[in-house]
Amino acid sequence: MKFDIITIFPEIFNSYLNESILKRAIEKKIIEVKVYNLRDFTTDKHRTVDDYPYGGGAGMVMKPEPFFKAIETIKADGVPRRTIMLSPQGKVFNQDVAFSMSKENHDLLFICGRYEAIDERVRECLVDEEISIGDYILTGGELPALVIIDSIARLIPGVLGDERSKEEESFTWGILDYPHYTRPPEFRGLRVPDVLLSGNHKDILLWRRKEALRRTILRRPDLIEKGSLTDEDYKLISEIREEKDESY
Ligand code: SAM
Repeated sequence: MKFDIITIFPEIFNSYLNESILKRAIEKKIIEVKVYNLRDFTTDKHRTVDDYPYGGGAGMVMKPEPFFKAIETIKADGVPRRTIMLSPQGKVFNQDVAFSMSKENHDLLFICGRYEAIDERVRECLVDEEISIGDYILTGGELPALVIIDSIARLIPGVLGDERSKEEESFTWGILDYPHYTRPPEFRGLRVPDVLLSGNHKDILLWRRKEALRRTILRRPDLIEKGSLTDEDYKLISEIREEKDESY
């Protein structure tokens, strides 16, 4: 899968993409990331990408011409791409969106904004979808682009060392992940739950599912309401609620 990025701060991407899992995915050519400097698509000697807003007001607005030129140049190779504008006004990104994007059959082109806004004509003519990474305002679209690329990339087969990791994570099955432990079995008086040391895989699976449900009830009850739970899950939830009642 290929990710193109248009930004005025291309260096931001170097450090993150040159480490760990994403670095290996790029080396193995499972993903490709190409970063374009918007200023390379300007025509004046100051490489201007912004201007004052019509109607007045605070901040600068990113000019349309460099975006049009950049996107037309990038798309000249004829490869179909979905153009995504990072924006706090967009559809909120989550694991379901990451999952469906990882399955899509086309490459993604990200437009990273800066300043107060991007000229509205960019959105009208060039953008297929606006995506937000949450209800807060960042200074630019570079971190959102990295967040989205990271979460999509790790869903692409071959990117993670162990493919099972992504099956057992928060949100994959609609609920949060279970608690994890490693050696030593006891640390500062805190013991790893006996069941995890028992070697009994059926009991371990059941314990993990129950603890995942317990966490979700406590921290994200909204997920329980939306989740696709089994009859077995509802039995575990009743047990959890009874245990809670007894503990009062
Ligand atoms: N004035 C804009 C508004 O209120 O919608 C916010 C502009 S913000 C300071 C500058 C850029 O950061 C945006 O164009 C966008 O690319 C990016 N950005 C900021 N917050 C974001 C978020 N939550 N999700 C995605 N992109 C974001």
